[in-house]
Amino acid sequence: MPSHFPEPLSKAIEEFSKFPGIGPKQAQRMVFYLLGLKEQEAKLIMDSISSAITQITYCPQCFNFSSKGETNQPQLCSVCGDSSRDEKIICVVEDPRDVSRFERIADYRGLYHVLGGAINNIDGVGPDSIRIGELLNRIEKSPVAELIMATNPNSAGDYTALYISNQLKDTGIQITRPARGLPMGGDLEYADDLTLGQAMAHRQNIGQSTNQNTDQKNQEKTQTVKENTSQNSTDNGESIS
Ligand SMILES: [Zn+2]
Repeated sequence: MPSHFPEPLSKAIEEFSKFPGIGPKQAQRMVFYLLGLKEQEAKLIMDSISSAITQITYCPQCFNFSSKGETNQPQLCSVCGDSSRDEKIICVVEDPRDVSRFERIADYRGLYHVLGGAINNIDGVGPDSIRIGELLNRIEKSPVAELIMATNPNSAGDYTALYISNQLKDTGIQITRPARGLPMGGDLEYADDLTLGQAMAHRQNIGQSTNQNTDQKNQEKTQTVKENTSQNSTDNGESIS
C-alpha cells in the first residue's frame, strides 16, 4: 500500500502492524506515540523489548518462560526455583501464558509442564512435536502423585490429555482434568478467572490408577488441594488455613 510517510516511518508502521490483533491504524498510533516521547523514554521501551528478546528463554525443567543467567544459560523459572512448591503435583498446560493465568487465579502450589501445543493431526502436530517425551522423562526421574491435565478444553486439548493419560496408565499416578464451567471448544486464555479457579478446584479423574495405596493417598492429597483452592478462590487468594 503506497504511503505518504517517509520510508523509516512507514517501515516502522508496517512492522508494528505485524503484532497479533494490531491493524495499520493502531500500528500508526503506536509509532506516533513513540515518536512523541523524549529520546530517553523511547530508549527505555526499545531496550526493554530488546532485552526481553535476547534474555528470555524457556525453563529447562518445565518450559515456562525463564531468563538466561550470567553464564547465558537458561535458568529455572520462578516456579521451579521455588523450593516451597509441591513437586508431587504437575499441572500440564499448552502455553507459557497459561502458567501465568493459573498463578494469578488460585493458590495452586504445585509445578507446571508446558507442552508447547496440543496434538492435532489435521495440522500435522503429532505427539513428538510437543514436549510429551520431556514430560515422561521428567516423571521418570522425579515421580509425581498427581498430573493435572489443563490443556485447552477443545478437541485437540482433550485428545492430548487422553493420550498422555494412556501413556501413564499402570503407573499409579492420579490424572485429573479441570472440570466445570470451561467453555467447550475454547482456549483457557478466554476463560474468566473465577471460572478457571472453579474448574481447577473441581477437577476430575481421567486416568485409572492401578495402585490402591497410592490412589488412596493421592485422593486425600487432591481433596486437601481442592479444599484449599476452593477456600482461597472465595477469599481473594489469601490462605486461611
Ligand atoms: Zn520451570
